[in-house]
Amino acid sequence: MKAAAFAYTRPAALADALRAAGRDARFVAGSQSLGPMLNLRLAEPPALVDVRRLPELRGARVEGGRLHLGAAVTHAEIEDGAVPDTTHGMLPAVARGIAYRAVRNRGTLGGSLAHADPAADWVNAMTVLGARCHIAGPDGRRVLPVHEFLQGTYRTALGPGELLVEVELPAFSERMRWGYYKVAAKVGEFASAIGAAVHDPALAMTHLLVGAIEARPLLLPPFAGALELAGDAAIEAFGARIAAALPQADAVFVHQHATALARAVARLRAEGAA
Ligand SMILES: Cc1cc2nc3c(=O)[nH]c(=O)nc-3n(C[C@H](O)[C@H](O)[C@H](O)COP(=O)(O)OP(=O)(O)OC[C@H]3O[C@@H](n4cnc5c(N)ncnc54)[C@H](O)[C@@H]3O)c2cc1C
Repeated sequence: MKAAAFAYTRPAALADALRAAGRDARFVAGSQSLGPMLNLRLAEPPALVDVRRLPELRGARVEGGRLHLGAAVTHAEIEDGAVPDTTHGMLPAVARGIAYRAVRNRGTLGGSLAHADPAADWVNAMTVLGARCHIAGPDGRRVLPVHEFLQGTYRTALGPGELLVEVELPAFSERMRWGYYKVAAKVGEFASAIGAAVHDPALAMTHLLVGAIEARPLLLPPFAGALELAGDAAIEAFGARIAAALPQADAVFVHQHATALARAVARLRAEGAA
């Protein structure tokens, strides 16, 4: 099937993009998710506004230790270290696990978050990192924590005509550690379960994430000794908390996600790995 007809514009500046979009058009970045939806006619927007080359979405900078990544930065640019990394290797490692190189060359950080597939890697990685989303729209600008930006499966807080401009990470210290574990049928496929952990004593941050759960990612309340748990004890402790938070989940789901989180915590102890 082919996409229905649509108007196409590629504005040169953010203000022009917002004006061009109005409240009806759809933004397009790498087109790695929207393209198939257009071709299957799951989406039939009257107009597409291409934001992939907007300078305001292409930047990457560190300010006061906080990394700001433009929404149109591609997975490949993060993988290749073409943008700064303040996460001690987590961002490039996560990028490397997304799909295959052709998808990573075009797919963008912002497109992935705006698409809000619960199994997407940036949806989960940015949540466990405690990122904030900078949004611009017809009514001005606003900033939301990523766990409020993400509202559910393919649902975000973006209103009509609103554009994700950049993502901002906390100012991690030298002592920040992370672990990310993706369960997928084959390397580079979407996850069936994701476990992730980030600990930074300087920020008093311990985040334990359960992802790919057909909803926005779940952050488990941290508990004493969580990062020291290993093996069956870790799977049992995490499994009990996942089952309590997701009472509809079956035993296989709970075990798979508890195992992913246990492995992420083991990787965190091994100084950050995916
Ligand atoms: C074969 C294949 C395998 C894949 N495997 C994985 C995987 O393992 N892990 C993974 O995480 N992803 C995977 N993906 C998805 C890929 O990462 C996409 O690139 C990503 O989900 C969407 O990014 P995009 O830039 O292509 O967005 P687009 O497809 O251009 O847009 C997606 C949606 O976001 C909106 N949008 C885009 N940019 C913005 C913005 N700045 N502000 C507001 N709205 C915006 C669009 O309107 C659209 O609704 C895979 C894709 C393919 C085709």
